[in-house]
Amino acid sequence: MEKRKEKILLCLCHLSGNEQKYVQEAFDTNWVVPLGPNVNGFEDDLQKFVGEGKEVVALSSGTAAVHLGLLACGVGPGDEVLIQSFTFCASSNPITYLGATPVFIDSEKDSWNIDPDLLEEAIKDRIAKTGKTPKAIVPVALYGMPYDIERIMEIGNRYGIPVMEDAAEGFGSRWKGRVLGTFGKYGVLSFNGNKMITTSGGGALICEDKASKDRILWYATQAREAYPYYQHEAIGYNYRMSNVCAGIGRGQMTIVDEHIRHHQKLAALYAELFKDVEGIRLHANPDKRYDSNYWLNTITIDPSVRVKGQENAYKTVVTGVVGGVASVIHAVDNPTTDCQPNDNVEALRVGLDALNIESRPLWKPMHKQPVYKNAPAYVNGVSEALFKVGLCLPSGPYVTEDDARFIVEAIKELIVR
Ligand SMILES: *Cc1c(COP(=O)(O)O)cnc(C)c1O
Repeated sequence: MEKRKEKILLCLCHLSGNEQKYVQEAFDTNWVVPLGPNVNGFEDDLQKFVGEGKEVVALSSGTAAVHLGLLACGVGPGDEVLIQSFTFCASSNPITYLGATPVFIDSEKDSWNIDPDLLEEAIKDRIAKTGKTPKAIVPVALYGMPYDIERIMEIGNRYGIPVMEDAAEGFGSRWKGRVLGTFGKYGVLSFNGNKMITTSGGGALICEDKASKDRILWYATQAREAYPYYQHEAIGYNYRMSNVCAGIGRGQMTIVDEHIRHHQKLAALYAELFKDVEGIRLHANPDKRYDSNYWLNTITIDPSVRVKGQENAYKTVVTGVVGGVASVIHAVDNPTTDCQPNDNVEALRVGLDALNIESRPLWKPMHKQPVYKNAPAYVNGVSEALFKVGLCLPSGPYVTEDDARFIVEAIKELIVR
């Protein structure tokens, strides 16, 4: 096959709304600080999107939203937080920023998200072992797929543990018709350049009422007391969203429904194209309660599938960046680790890359990350097994239906039959 001239990227937001108008307004009125009409307007748009009765705070990143949500749940030094292990590090790192310990919970097979049975088992065991109740439960909408929020909320309520939903990848996904991020005490959204919509970099926290929004706002603006001079009685953060960035967000909100539909349309097309490809399965809504935004479409590849070049997988160290556009990565000496995707998955990634198609392994579970080797984990093998067989495929607004056909054809050609 001829390789594509332009790389088909995994997921890149598209500034196809009237972003420029709002950003220009910020320039024209010199509103260049982390507050202003765009910040208020963006928050109003988000509030409308998530529905009645919720309040939204715009922040400088999704990671900042995770951090402040946990803080507001009362997480502090020596505490434990129950969190889905199958996630990106931004879900769990802020737990350590607060001096607390993540307790990783494995996933259920169908949704790939936090297993409610294992969650309850972990709660009982933590209480028995430490004498303390964990401070928060964090389910994650991995690749946009909803978690079984009904069971998670029921368990959280029964043990008196607040739920903070990490819907950073699941903006616009729904559980029984209701938008994710609106069930728990807090809900995290991300507007990084590769998420469902972007503010170039940014995030938001969905709060249950005005009082909890005000508390988050206070923490996000350096925790100032009402005096004519700077007086501080708590440690705050500089986490508010810039008025310039919020202008991009307002423009993106004018096309968000269209973008979500595009991701979902690609999912339906991938499903049709992969229908008869033996050994490959597309991840899809387990049943009618789940309504994924399909932020990223993902496949699993049976270990029996042979891929061209498989014998050379992991022979050389990666020098470019996998998993980030403009990042700094540490050089490594050894091309392998003790837990990595199967050779056929890596060969498929390399083969697609040669055709200018970006793909990426599933997120490596946090309980398998060296940095978290001492954290408690309640494991059933599901996320580790998925990590070894899974691959994320291009899914963003730049990916056309023709691109999806090209990608599936490329995968079929790379498989040895
Ligand atoms: C992207 C992401 C975040 C954090 O968002 P940023 O805006 O990049 O800080 C948090 N959790 C998950 C699961 C994510 O994918």
